[in-house]
Amino acid sequence: MSEYEALRRRHVADAMALTPRLIDQVDWPAGQLAAHRTRQLRELVRTATERSPWYRRRLADVDIGRLDETTLPELPALTKAELMEHFDDIVTDGRLSLAQLERHLRTVETGSYLFGRYTAIMSSGSTGQRGVFVYDWDSWAVFWLSMFRGVLRVKLADPVLAERPAVLAAVTAAHFSHATAAMARTFSGAHLTSIRFPVTLPTEEIVAGLNQAQPDLMLAYPSVLYVLAREAMAGRLHVAPRRILVGAEPLLPEIRAAAEQVWGGKVINIWGTSEGGGTAVGCDQGGTHISEDQLIVEPVDLSGQPVAPGERSAKVYLTNLYNHALPLIRYEITDEVTVLPEPCPCGSAYRRIADVQGRLDDVFVYQGRRVHPHLFRCELGRETGVVEYQVRQTSLGARIAVRCSAPVNADILGDRIAAALARSGLERPQVTVEVVDRLERPGGPAKLKRFIPLDANSALSRQAPAARGPVAVVSAGR
Ligand SMILES: [Zn+2]
Repeated sequence: MSEYEALRRRHVADAMALTPRLIDQVDWPAGQLAAHRTRQLRELVRTATERSPWYRRRLADVDIGRLDETTLPELPALTKAELMEHFDDIVTDGRLSLAQLERHLRTVETGSYLFGRYTAIMSSGSTGQRGVFVYDWDSWAVFWLSMFRGVLRVKLADPVLAERPAVLAAVTAAHFSHATAAMARTFSGAHLTSIRFPVTLPTEEIVAGLNQAQPDLMLAYPSVLYVLAREAMAGRLHVAPRRILVGAEPLLPEIRAAAEQVWGGKVINIWGTSEGGGTAVGCDQGGTHISEDQLIVEPVDLSGQPVAPGERSAKVYLTNLYNHALPLIRYEITDEVTVLPEPCPCGSAYRRIADVQGRLDDVFVYQGRRVHPHLFRCELGRETGVVEYQVRQTSLGARIAVRCSAPVNADILGDRIAAALARSGLERPQVTVEVVDRLERPGGPAKLKRFIPLDANSALSRQAPAARGPVAVVSAGR
């Protein structure tokens, strides 16, 4: 057994040991939850001010003993740009640095922990700006459990699944630097056997793989789930998952309806973030509950003032209570959320949110062949110098504008993306990459439209996917 595999198995065992407690916490009453949050918040700020030079300066005047959710908004917010700029002073282990994490992310395919305990992931996030995040041993397990404790509870209560590992098919990110793929690799084991189907594969290969795997649980982007539901309706996909988890894109009512028509009422919506893990996770009653034992989420308007329940925020400030390796205290995420004022029928004390509105990425369709935006996200995200980007579909490929913090070889990057498009089935794709000083933002600073389809009507767009008749699937062109 490799050194990595031995460590990984120990990590799985440690995560399993944490599972009962994290499942129990979901049932906590409001008072117990609030006391826990105050305790965790003070511990986080104590660690940050003791071990992070940047936070020591920034929060020098904070009286930790009186810090709670009512006084937290007095602390300054943290943007992604600030985090990336001061990263080496923000991490609480002096051995960690952004440059080293970037190097680690480039070699992550072989499977490794940094210093035997750290996991790094990256994200392009909703503004298209690249971010790098690092989790220590326990917090990476909590990150995973924050997404999966709900289905683990279902699994443990299911007479058939209680006897064997549940098979989880993840039709998600292609590269281990992304959270979903990294989680699937680390925690494939005792309770869940993860099988990954990179979303960049042609649909017919994904369908064939799913038919063979016969997953108990399925994890997919909503836009991909919609295609899979159509494949099932067309008689090509034959699976019977007990639960379907979706995330990273808005779950449109049409997509939920199509999936529930095919597989029954089992779609669990997850608002996942690289900064917090399962930031809000669906319950069986259709509510999506904020993981309030792990995170403090403050919905705010553009100027950072709190918005009332029932109103949609412009962004949120997220405080991650469990990851002390990279303290994120009032970290700005430009996702729009609406906290619902009414309690959920399930009785949970955890606040719930309406569907997250940010992060809608348009699928590009080339002569009936669908290309998920993840293909571009993955290749562009792996390029260290790229800060943000905008991808315009062309008839034969794409025209991409990138803003960079370090020199980037645009030709090589373009060739790599063209090769990825060719692997997904396009013939002789053409991709041009142009380095620019700034990107167009007609809707304001937070509203970069990252993916611009050639013809918005030909893609699965947010308006009415069901109204346009069958969505073209890749096999249609053959
Ligand atoms: Zn609920």
